[in-house]
Amino acid sequence: MKQPYERPIIKKMHTGLMDKFGRQNSKEPVSDIEGVTIEQLVENYGSPLFVISEKQIRRNYQSALRAFNTRYPKVQFAWSYKTNYLNSVCQIFHQEGSWAEVVSGFEYQKAINNGVVGHQIIFNGPDKKEEELTLAIKNQSLIHIDHFNELDQLIQLCQLLKQKAKIAIRVNMDTGTYPIWDRFGFNLENEQAWTAIKKIKENQLLELQGLHCHIGTFLLSTQPHEIAARKLSELALRCKAELQLSIKYLDLGGGFPSKNNLKGTYTGIDSIPTIDEFATSITEAILNAGFPTEELPLLILESGRALIDDAGYLIGSVIANKRLSDGRSATILNFGVNLLFTSNWYDHHISTTKAYSEYTEATTLFGPLCMNIDVIRQHIELPLLNKGDHIVVHKVGAYNMTQWMQFIQMRPAVVLIDQKSKVHLIRKPETLAYLDSHEQIPTHLNP
Ligand SMILES: *Cc1c(COP(=O)(O)O)cnc(C)c1O
Repeated sequence: MKQPYERPIIKKMHTGLMDKFGRQNSKEPVSDIEGVTIEQLVENYGSPLFVISEKQIRRNYQSALRAFNTRYPKVQFAWSYKTNYLNSVCQIFHQEGSWAEVVSGFEYQKAINNGVVGHQIIFNGPDKKEEELTLAIKNQSLIHIDHFNELDQLIQLCQLLKQKAKIAIRVNMDTGTYPIWDRFGFNLENEQAWTAIKKIKENQLLELQGLHCHIGTFLLSTQPHEIAARKLSELALRCKAELQLSIKYLDLGGGFPSKNNLKGTYTGIDSIPTIDEFATSITEAILNAGFPTEELPLLILESGRALIDDAGYLIGSVIANKRLSDGRSATILNFGVNLLFTSNWYDHHISTTKAYSEYTEATTLFGPLCMNIDVIRQHIELPLLNKGDHIVVHKVGAYNMTQWMQFIQMRPAVVLIDQKSKVHLIRKPETLAYLDSHEQIPTHLNP
């Protein structure tokens, strides 16, 4: 085999920071994903390319479910659509038994189109339009009320339709993480939540089924969830004691971290709690809250990033190398912040796809956008890549494929590798025709 060409460098020796696990980043090349070579993927679907592993999604889902249902009798997961709403991804979660958790009208419609029955759709979010609420009422979906205006609107709609609605309220509270996400839902400590509950209780058409919270995301300790579970349980018990209202479910939202490296943390992935630890904290808080055993509420979880991040990969290629004004090395890749939104928060693990020599160089990774802030990584030790070489970014399954932008570059293809290592195109690359299909030119501007 011919060795790849490597440009020569002169480099000051330094050993680099070690932590107790040794050198931080593994430099092992990754030449395939779930048994399909990167070469083959790029040849068939181009670069950049998002790749999703069906096996990994199912593995994540099953182990998260097991973490909870071995500790608590009634557990239900609801897939957070905004984390990744590619239909094939949603269908994998639904096949596994997950309900849908949506935060907008179009996500709601997506869940319906994906065959989710109305009463297994949780409708969250602060902006539900009248026609969307009407549909949700008719479908008996679980409507999670965010504010008093929405509560009033729902009461009016139910009266108009002469139909009951199954609802929950979203509750925000002090769980020891700051800033408190108090912009969503009703605050617990100032009694807004209790006021909302009393108002709901007075109305014959509203059935308060559950209490919901989603206290934060990528939480690095189990304690906030434990506090939230305890406080929601206390609120449910208060509903029973003072209003004779039995709460059927507690929805603890999402917020579990994925195994990504948060920027600025030292050995992120080794110190974050596992889902088992979250499950222990949450279920113990509910089990110890004082519910009679036969009245234990259903526990709903809306975990997003923890279930999908490590099932997603982004393959990209080197466009060029250059020297910056201060002598630093820079590499320009064919994807940037347009496709890797989460590079704002994570130092993603990035691998080469073939073996290079042991030499590495501190490099800044830029994307292809004509925009100065298009930086994927300020500093990474990489081998001496050449134009056309491929790299793989790991753990990109959450949020990137929903927050990607069509700015300067079109969005690329997404493929799913099934459990038998068969590759399926699940989203075609975008084209100019796709983009232009929504534009209209007034006649006086026609060429
Ligand atoms: C975004 C969101 C989730 C998923 O959050 P993760 O932190 O990715 O687990 C769950 N519930 C609600 C209401 C959300 O807005």
